[in-house]
Amino acid sequence: MPRYIDELQLTGKRVFVRVDFNVPLDDAQQITDDTRIREALPTIRKVLEGGGKPILASHLGRPKGVTPTLTLLPVAKRLAELLGGTFEVLMADDCIGEGVSKQARDLKPTQVLLLENLRFHKEEEANDEAFARQLAQHADVYCNDAFGTAHRAHASTAGMVPFVKEKCAGLLMRKEIEQLGRVVKNAARPFVVVLGGSKVSDKIKVIENLLPKCQTMLIGGAMAYTFLKAEGVEVGRSRVEEDKLPLATRLIDTAKRLGVDLVLPVDHVCGTSPDEESQAIDVLERAIPKDLMGLDIGGKTRALYTQHLRDAKTILWNGPMGLFEVAKFAEGTKSVAVAMANNGQAQTVIGGGDSAAAVNEFRLADKMTHVSTGGGASLEFLEGKALPGLKALE
Ligand code: ADP
Ligand code: MG
Repeated sequence: MPRYIDELQLTGKRVFVRVDFNVPLDDAQQITDDTRIREALPTIRKVLEGGGKPILASHLGRPKGVTPTLTLLPVAKRLAELLGGTFEVLMADDCIGEGVSKQARDLKPTQVLLLENLRFHKEEEANDEAFARQLAQHADVYCNDAFGTAHRAHASTAGMVPFVKEKCAGLLMRKEIEQLGRVVKNAARPFVVVLGGSKVSDKIKVIENLLPKCQTMLIGGAMAYTFLKAEGVEVGRSRVEEDKLPLATRLIDTAKRLGVDLVLPVDHVCGTSPDEESQAIDVLERAIPKDLMGLDIGGKTRALYTQHLRDAKTILWNGPMGLFEVAKFAEGTKSVAVAMANNGQAQTVIGGGDSAAAVNEFRLADKMTHVSTGGGASLEFLEGKALPGLKALE
């Protein structure tokens, strides 16, 4: 367990906070979802209240060198709005250099400094030592609050840490570690895992890690068809990972051996192509006609999964139940989100970027115990892997 920001004495200290401001932008560089900025506010406020000087650093997108469309300037503006008048957000024109270090030193008690996109320097992802040392020069305290990047060993998440006097994790990081940690270490029973998404291969390690811990695993999404085919069910033109059929069989056997109820869809909403053009066709049995593909779980499956979720004490959900980006194939995904929202007694946790996006779209995020801000990072955490960004803080 790392130390957390509220355990440190911060008065007068320059606190380098690695945040995850990798927000989605539209073509006009407008922020379309500011969740990640809002989630970073408690830590930023904690630094300001403690009399520290917050120096915020993040990457945005995948720039190749300095890319004007990927400046963090829109984030600086949004952050200033969210901090509401009392505080001023200064935007640095780079993330390293003497000019930036001076800006950091000269910060007034009501000011926050946001560094420019870390990935404008390729040394960030390369975890270059000289670059890491330059970042470290700005700071007396290092604080990592970027859970979404904690699965990467980059200069700002790992390399610079040994070169700063004090190190700690932020409050968002604590929330993520506590919520996801409870799920993998001591989930209250019955513990129901809902897994979906596009590929079994993405989720193998999550399934293997959670099967021994849960009582029920509900499978949906495209990965369900690989499992169904492994069981000998006709799946038509549904997306199947042929090379993962033996693995699916093995996972089904493991579930049986462990006494875990691994539940597959009993009916489907099908189509002729995975897009808007396709009609939604209800297929009321497990087998899918040869010319159709499964694009969502069907009505009986929705009811069945809802039933399972009603009595759970812990629910972990990762991966949409269907092609939820198209409204006519979103009902399955929505039914899981609603069932979780309606279960007032359970710890309800959502991991995975697309699943989090779905819950936000349904406006049910505030009904959940926790919606992880890290897509890839939450998956690796659920796989039981040690995240480099957390290791660096030990
Ligand atoms: P997460 O990001 O939550 O971990 P994934 O990335 O694994 O989820 O999967 C999300 C994607 O899977 C979505 O784009 C969704 O449209 C797609 N998907 C789910 N079910 C199907 C299906 N039956 N056919 C095609 N695509 C699907
Ligand atoms: Mg995804």
